[in-house]
Amino acid sequence: MRKEERDYGDSIIPFSGGIDSTYLLMKYKGIPLVINDESKMFRQKELPAIRSILAKLDIRKGYFVRFPETDFLEIGSNSVVGLIPGYKMLIQLTAMAYAQKLGKKYVLLGNSKQNTEFKDEQYKNVKKLEALYNTVYGTDIKVECPLQELEKYEIIKMAKKIKLPFGLTQSCCNQFTSIDCGICSGCIKRKEGFKLAKINDI
Ligand SMILES: [Zn+2]
Repeated sequence: MRKEERDYGDSIIPFSGGIDSTYLLMKYKGIPLVINDESKMFRQKELPAIRSILAKLDIRKGYFVRFPETDFLEIGSNSVVGLIPGYKMLIQLTAMAYAQKLGKKYVLLGNSKQNTEFKDEQYKNVKKLEALYNTVYGTDIKVECPLQELEKYEIIKMAKKIKLPFGLTQSCCNQFTSIDCGICSGCIKRKEGFKLAKINDI
């Protein structure tokens, strides 16, 4: 059985309003965990997408976490250098804490092949952090990345089959524009994915 076909039962799914985490929510019927990292991008792009997708899918149960500032800021400067290192580890730990609190066995992360440039999204590191958490708290929470072996276009093809509302999802990670910029890594990978999948982005 292919990894993405597994039944994870009740799970916690960090939900960003992108295609990957929307796919996980629809496929595995997990509980969404929305992370508000106080960034402009979250308010302008992620939150509207998250709201419209949850409404469309009629998902009423979920959790909303407020993170402290996760942009890397210098004192006295308004320029954002980037996300703090370890941001994805923070998300994983938070999701594991929710799983523990709510008695869920699984946390599902939307990490796909395109994310492997980020060390904290690599499966071996996800599993190391999983082990650390479980050792510290004496829990047995499993963190899985059902999409980790898949390219974006493969996820898009699978998403099409379950009628994922692509038009409501958002991939842009440009914090300086209120609409999709078309030039950031998120926009480019999305465009490429749809092209390779031969599917229209609507
Ligand atoms: Zn963009």
